[in-house]
Amino acid sequence: MLIVMRHGATADEVQKVVSVIEEMGYQATPMPGAQRTAVGLVGNDGRVDASRLEGLPGVQEVIHVSKPYKQVSREWRPEATVVKLAGGVTVGGTEVVAMAGPCSLETERQVLESARLVKEAGAVILRGGAWKPRSSPYSFQGLGRPGLKLLAKAREETGLLICTEAMDPDGVGWVSEMADIVQIGARNMQNFSLLKVAGRCGKPILLKRGISATIVELLLSAEYLLAEGNYDVILCERGVRSFDTMTRNLFDLTAIPVVHKLSHLPIIADPSHGTGLRDKVIPMARAAVAAGADGIMVEVHPNPEEALSDGAQTLYPEQFTQLMREVRIIAEAIGRRVAEPAAVGA
Ligand code: PEP
Ligand code: MN
Repeated sequence: MLIVMRHGATADEVQKVVSVIEEMGYQATPMPGAQRTAVGLVGNDGRVDASRLEGLPGVQEVIHVSKPYKQVSREWRPEATVVKLAGGVTVGGTEVVAMAGPCSLETERQVLESARLVKEAGAVILRGGAWKPRSSPYSFQGLGRPGLKLLAKAREETGLLICTEAMDPDGVGWVSEMADIVQIGARNMQNFSLLKVAGRCGKPILLKRGISATIVELLLSAEYLLAEGNYDVILCERGVRSFDTMTRNLFDLTAIPVVHKLSHLPIIADPSHGTGLRDKVIPMARAAVAAGADGIMVEVHPNPEEALSDGAQTLYPEQFTQLMREVRIIAEAIGRRVAEPAAVGA
């Protein structure tokens, strides 16, 4: 439930609404907006007496949020959420953000080389996994904590921001200490206890759509993060499993405008996992930006044939340079611009 205050309502009037909500045993979240302030009532179990709030001074109207994902919905917050990262990089505004790097962190040389080359091409965020969710227990599982040290070194050297995946609660602790964005992968999208921990970690979260998750399920998983007080959430479309084996996944481009309509949260696109095929990544990255994606996540390796995971979908450095060049043109054509590495300095 959302209590919308009149334009010009005083701080005391807002505070009164907050106290009444708390007296009723619910949580109140004041949300100052450009036009007016609203106060969210979290935890409405259907027994809230709206008339108690409607009659308070300064209250314009009480809106019942119809969607099951409350705080994530556009009804709750009409303006787009802009996630602010270090160095002035934003996700969800006019900028289109590129995050790129190898699927797995492998060696110091590979990580540093990847960082340099993705920055050179125009990425602002280095993304690579220290912990990898692999279908087979015999596949490379990632370097673990030493991988985080390599990312820290790459950040020191290039100034790139860091995004990396956490697979369990301990991982959330370690990743949130060093990274700028904590990734929750597709396989963990509905790991609700992990989402609760991530919601309390104090860092922005990149939440990837589950392999067979509906858009509503993705939004409900994001609601877990917001319900824990973390409003810096970036969603990611990474393809869903389909009957067609021609590509690794079915890259659901429609999810981008659908999410933008239903939610105020930013959504980026991952055409690498979305297609699974190197030669499909550039066209689908272009398409995702044209569809309104707030960013792209792309796998790039200095030498993809030697990659320990996801080599077949990983771009050669020069392909990533081409991708960035083309995506810049598309972003500008729709009134946006690609965030440039100058923003992150070093
Ligand atoms: C990844 O981003 O490297 C990854 C494992 O992706 P997903 O969780 O989307 O499968
Ligand atoms: Mn991968």
